Amino acid sequence: MDARNGFIDTIGRTPLIRLIGPSEATGCEILGKAEFLNPGGSVKDRAALAIVEDAVASGRLKPGGVIVEGTAGNTGIGLALVGNALGFRTVIVMPETQSQEKKDMLRLCGADLRLVPAVPFKDPGNYVHVSRRIAEELAQTEPNGAIWANQFDNLANREGHRRTTGPEIWEQTGGKVDAFTCATGTGGTLAGVGMALKERNPDVRIVLADPMGSALYAWKKTGELKAEGNSITEGIGQGRVTANLADAPVDDAVQVTDEEALPIIFDLLKDEGLVLGGSSGINVGAAIKVAKALGPGHTIVTILCDYGTRYQSKLFNPAFLREKNLPVPDWLA
Ligand code: PMP
Repeated sequence: MDARNGFIDTIGRTPLIRLIGPSEATGCEILGKAEFLNPGGSVKDRAALAIVEDAVASGRLKPGGVIVEGTAGNTGIGLALVGNALGFRTVIVMPETQSQEKKDMLRLCGADLRLVPAVPFKDPGNYVHVSRRIAEELAQTEPNGAIWANQFDNLANREGHRRTTGPEIWEQTGGKVDAFTCATGTGGTLAGVGMALKERNPDVRIVLADPMGSALYAWKKTGELKAEGNSITEGIGQGRVTANLADAPVDDAVQVTDEEALPIIFDLLKDEGLVLGGSSGINVGAAIKVAKALGPGHTIVTILCDYGTRYQSKLFNPAFLREKNLPVPDWLA
């Protein structure tokens, strides 16, 4: 029999997919780690599981306890499903600007969803701070206690990727990987995969892929956190250096605009059958830029972060794209 043991055992061991168009266009092997095929539909299933396992192992999360988190959505979906599988309730705090599909999915999973206005991190009403305060309150009132997952600064997040995603990429490429590109929300994927690859070969180039509106490109290039422009991508872009990112082995950063990323997403769907969200477009766009800089014959790995149906009302909605002055592909118009 070849079967995985329930939801938890189905997280990870995702395929590595050769992206045919981008590979042919650059003369490099551009490979996407298919994190959208995790059972919760995103790369964040891994972080959710790693954080919950760490909290259980340390005794902070007890049977019947509550998991509280602030999230752009995917970590919340991962935590809610891990919680369902392991017997924990979840309270999820999310900025109201995130896609309707993620909100619907969270409610479907049984999460107690609390929507808050999208305000900057320095504002006490920011979703991250609201989630921390709810966790502190519930820790006092819940019979079995509560924890704050704290994905941005909880290093169990990147350790999960260092232990699973990174080694999987190394094995799937047989160690033939010249560069890795990855956008950053918490920085867990970039840092964890980066560390795992550098531990095996210090010459692998680790490149941060940044959307417009994020401060990390300037931070890597000049040391100063500075943001310009904006992006419709969700779950990525960051205005501060999280604990997960702080000492990550990052060699360089590239900026990718929505105008560059969206046609990649549309082509991967129409020409190759891959249904991906916006952050995957930023990641593949960065891989193409790195491939062009390195020249033909190199292997660049990136992350295909989440499933595109999560953004049907935005990324794949011609009216929304027109309103944002973004390109609308013929077949979608
Ligand atoms: N893409 C999507 C769609 C996400 O939801 C996230 C996580 N917020 C990321 C990329 C970034 O992953 P990480 O938090 O590991 O930096």
